[in-house]
Amino acid sequence: MKIISILNQKGGVAKTTSTQNIAAGLNSLGKKVLAIDFDPQGNLTSGFGLDKRNLDYTVYDLLKAKSFGSGTLSFNDVVVETSFADILPTNIKMSKVNLELGGVPGKESLLKEILKDVYGYDYVIIDCPPSLDTLTFNALMASHEVYIPVQTEFYALEGIVELMDTIDIVTHRMNDDLRIGGVFATMVDSRSKLHIEVIGQLKEFFGENMFKTLIRRNVKVAEASSHGISIFDYAPRSNGSKDYKSLCVEIIEREEK
Ligand code: ADP
Ligand code: MG
Repeated sequence: MKIISILNQKGGVAKTTSTQNIAAGLNSLGKKVLAIDFDPQGNLTSGFGLDKRNLDYTVYDLLKAKSFGSGTLSFNDVVVETSFADILPTNIKMSKVNLELGGVPGKESLLKEILKDVYGYDYVIIDCPPSLDTLTFNALMASHEVYIPVQTEFYALEGIVELMDTIDIVTHRMNDDLRIGGVFATMVDSRSKLHIEVIGQLKEFFGENMFKTLIRRNVKVAEASSHGISIFDYAPRSNGSKDYKSLCVEIIEREEK
């Protein structure tokens, strides 16, 4: 079971969109996938077609049950099956976690403890919030790898150094199994000189860690999420579908190397 955090503390770089379509893409390549919505905004939960205002339990309840040893709530009570992947959903209640867990010892390892008892998945993909907080530390503590989506804009590399520092700190102090599994460019316009230039800079900075696949800007990708389905079901012939499929093939190839 490989656990991957999709992380970039910048908002709007396609973390959630990529989590959803990587989960769906790996599933269509025969892998069993669990997605975890770890951003209180709950966009991944909506992207999976669930109503985030109408959930029996969320990953927040699971974290609380773990931290206070309260009740008997288990993974199976919270996980929701969908046509392409299982999901631990969330909603805005989760934003209380940072405050509520303030004084709890070991508060960064709750997700790791929860996943220790979970079996049967090839991949677990965690959609991280756009911040470097207790939730993100929980995701990184639990993960084997971090994938970093980068939007190919002028300021793309801004913030990357801070992100690398955070990953370094986690690696040295909390989870020395953690490594950067890959970096991919999102919302690329291959006719844009600026985008080509930024992709060059990313390759220079990340070297082998850079995925060859570029995720192009494609309106179908945004539309699919708003309909609560994956790009593969919404527009199977679109560039978005081709790109995410190609990224998933690379992910599996890297695994098998
Ligand atoms: P994050 O989770 O990093 O905040 P999102 O996944 O929510 O980012 O994406 C930000 C916005 O960009 C959303 O409106 C999403 O629909 C849109 N988007 C993401 N990827 C693409 C793409 N390849 N083409 C067009 N729009 C995209
Ligand atoms: Mg998001």
